[in-house]
Order: sequence, then C-alpha cells, then structure tokens
Amino acid sequence: MPVLDDKKALILGGSRGIGAAIVERLTQDGADTVFTYGGSTEAARTLADKTGARAVQADSADRDAVASIIKDQGPLDVLVVNAGVAVLGDPLEQDPDAIDHMIDINVRSPYHAAVGAARNMPNGGRIVMIGSVNGDRMPFPGGAGYALTKSAVQGMVRGLARDFGERGITVNSVQPGPVDTDLNPADGPMKEMMHSFMAIKRHARPDEIAAMVAYLVGPEASIVTGAQHTIDGGFGA
Ligand code: NDP
Repeated sequence: MPVLDDKKALILGGSRGIGAAIVERLTQDGADTVFTYGGSTEAARTLADKTGARAVQADSADRDAVASIIKDQGPLDVLVVNAGVAVLGDPLEQDPDAIDHMIDINVRSPYHAAVGAARNMPNGGRIVMIGSVNGDRMPFPGGAGYALTKSAVQGMVRGLARDFGERGITVNSVQPGPVDTDLNPADGPMKEMMHSFMAIKRHARPDEIAAMVAYLVGPEASIVTGAQHTIDGGFGA
C-alpha cells in the first residue's frame, strides 16, 4: 500500500544489505526516495534502476559531505541512517585510526545527519537510526568498539526525541541481531557462535528489518519515539 505517497525519504548507506532492503521497501510504499552510497557504485546504480530511487555518492565518514547532501534534498519527511561498519578484534591490537573511522561513520555522522535533517523537516517527520542489539548486549570478545558506537546511537535517539518531539518528529532506532548481509553472512565463520545466543537460531533477512523501519516511518507510528526497537531472534533476551 503506498502509505508514503507524497513523502520524501533519504537513506544514508543504501547500496547494499539492510540499506538496500530499506530503499526497496520505502519506494514500494510510495516514498520519493534518495539514497547515498560510499564505494559500491555498481550496486547503487542497479538498485536505482530497479526501484526508481536516486543514488548519490557521499562518504558517511565525511560530515560535510553528508551535511551537503541533506541540504541539497530540501525538506525531508523521512531520514534513515543505515550506513555503518563493524571493526571487530582485540582492542590491544586494533588500529586506533580504524576505530575512530568507525566512530565517524556510526556515531558522528548519524548525529549530525539527524540534526541537519531536522532543521527543515516538516512537523510529523521521522528519523530512524539503524543501531544494533550489540548496543544492549556484547556477548563475545572483540566487539567493544562496535558496541560503544551502537550504545551511542541509543543515547542520541533518546535525547533527540525530546528535542524534536514538540514538532511531532519521531526519533527511533532499530536494533537488529544477526542479519544476512555482506557484513555478517548467514554462512560466515561466526554463524554458530551467534546462533548460540538466539532463541530463533537463524540470521534475519534484510527485508525483515526493512519492514520494521517501514512501520516506524509510516502513519501508524506517530506516537512511537525515543525508543530502541530490537529485532534479533532473541539474541538479547
Ligand atoms: P553491509 O556492509 O552489508 O552494507 C553497509 C552499507 O552501508 C552499504 O550500503 C555501504 O555502502 C554503506 N556504507 C558503509 N560505510 C559507508 C560510508 N563510509 N559512506 C557511505 N556509505 C557507507 O552492512 P549491513 O547491511 O549488514 O549493515 C547496515 C547497518 O546495520 C549498519 O549500521 C550495521 O551496523 C547494522 N547492523 C547490521 C547487522 C548485521 O548482522 N548485518 C546487525 C546489527 C546491526 P557502500 O558499499 O556503497 O560503501
């Protein structure tokens, strides 16, 4: 059903995985959709052709690039911040620059993008961040840096919901558990370990995450804000 007719949506990081599923879903729901990509030019072109969404290159580690894309779009009804990376490993061995780069993409960019979009967002607009169940639970070693970025998303969602609530703008996060993407393939080396923490022992499909995003940006969710919406097969239970 085209519940997002007349709505303009921007998805940051839409070329692959969960972001691509969100682009597909929001275009199906009728939104005039723009998405950014980093390096996956071919995937972005293919998705744009398939969905009718527009693809724009912008590095989410570059605050000014993201700010400029947001400004260029004019008023947005919907912002979804999906772009994210996971730098996992022994913190004593990790390259500090790689950790800071992850923080730029997973924390700094989402915050500044949300504030930038809210400046011109009409009343009743929607901001959704893709967090992670690892913001709540980090049950294996090597994920401290990633978990800290996803916990930071929780704090910004709570705070920004208060800042923009008077205008009816909602701010939420979706917190997936394992999802079958390039970042975390269902047949990857961490499969058994990840499934051991879950009540339903399978990776989610990207379209299952997109469905939750579609609800949050849709007309039925206007009172849902400041919350983390976990979709994880019981990983965090
Ligand atoms: P993928 O690696 O499959 O896709 C990542 C997407 O983000 C791509 O479209 C990529 O674009 C974009 N992206 C990454 N870095 C940048 C950048 N610097 N600038 C612009 N775009 C960028 O990841 P997933 O789909 O699995 O993950 C999406 C989100 O979901 C992330 O925030 C991740 O932390 C979160 N998540 C994922 C889980 C999983 O199990 N898969 C579980 C919990 C949370 P491009 O290739 O064009 O650079």
